[in-house]
Amino acid sequence: MTDSNAADRAARYRQRMQQKKQIVDASIARADQEKGLLLVLTGNGKGKSSSAFGMAARALGHGMRVGVAQFIKGRSDTGEEAFFRRQTQITWHVLGEGFTWDTQNLERDSATARKGWSVVQEMLRDTGYNLVVIDELTYPLKFGWLDMDQVLNDLQNRPHMQHVVITGRGAPDILCDAADTVTEMRDVKHAFRSGITAQKGIDL
Ligand code: ATP
Ligand code: MG
Repeated sequence: MTDSNAADRAARYRQRMQQKKQIVDASIARADQEKGLLLVLTGNGKGKSSSAFGMAARALGHGMRVGVAQFIKGRSDTGEEAFFRRQTQITWHVLGEGFTWDTQNLERDSATARKGWSVVQEMLRDTGYNLVVIDELTYPLKFGWLDMDQVLNDLQNRPHMQHVVITGRGAPDILCDAADTVTEMRDVKHAFRSGITAQKGIDL
């Protein structure tokens, strides 16, 4: 490449980057509002709960107070639970114990879920919580154990600056409509299907 070609390329690159910077700066200047956000992380791909716990770590790093409510508890030996329970600024509730896949007793499962939701309601009324993670909430909603209108109402009436992150597959449209940020994890490939069991630090 000749010197003048290289100089041309460098000038074009500078110009392109300058334009990009103007666009980015303008959108940053436009996004100047502050408010508590409702986030929904859904879809069949891996990464919903771990993303939510990533935000919990971020919030704790800023000295914020975090509440976690786990609706369907897959296992009791996860790294995140062990780690977060050692932190002082986080409260960790397991609310799904007692759900009975085998007895299919709707009344009993609804009662368990409603009792769990009353714990969440307390956090949603408490301005002391800066971030509330409601992990796997979509299941009690999908199975009709919780009243959707009640849940939406409680979310809407939470403190103005409180962030809420909800995870779980198949989030109902009405919940996504109410959210500020919705991410759908897409399942492109998962090691489990190649016969790899859940790995510490990655899956649990
Ligand atoms: P993670 O907790 O890893 O962020 P997740 O919350 O997105 O996962 P869940 O549906 O809650 O996903 O399932 C939790 C467990 O199932 C994790 O061990 C995860 O690796 C595994 N998993 C998630 N998605 C898939 C998938 N598409 N196929 C197989 N296993 C999966
Ligand atoms: Mg999950």
